[in-house]
Amino acid sequence: MDIGQDQHPSVRWTLPSPGGGLIRGAREAMSFLLTCPNCGVREVTDFGYGGEILPRPKGKPSFRELNTYNYFRVNKAGVQREWWFHRSGCRAWFIAERNTTTNEVLFTARPSEVPGQSDPSGQVTVAAGEADGDLP
Ligand SMILES: [Zn+2]
Repeated sequence: MDIGQDQHPSVRWTLPSPGGGLIRGAREAMSFLLTCPNCGVREVTDFGYGGEILPRPKGKPSFRELNTYNYFRVNKAGVQREWWFHRSGCRAWFIAERNTTTNEVLFTARPSEVPGQSDPSGQVTVAAGEADGDLP
């Protein structure tokens, strides 16, 4: 049996668009492609989302600064830089710049290729001078 595109089983819903046509919601519309800097283009389901990139607190943060860094998100509607992890491939962290409203990926790069970024999987290091007062 040949089914038309409008009857395709992956189409979940339709909504009227502002222009008068119909916006078709489909399972494939929820997905997008990401380019791993090591492996190349893959489905987004190959990756783990690591969250938006936020500035790390400097020095020894207060409890409030640490909580803000760990738990508060900007949740921007637009272009933001994010951490992604290639869990079904090379298992490396990388940075992507993505429009959160359209899922358009503007670029992906290794953390070392983006100035000022570090690897989120690494341990937090404390400079030797800062740790002296905290040790028993
Ligand atoms: Zn990869």
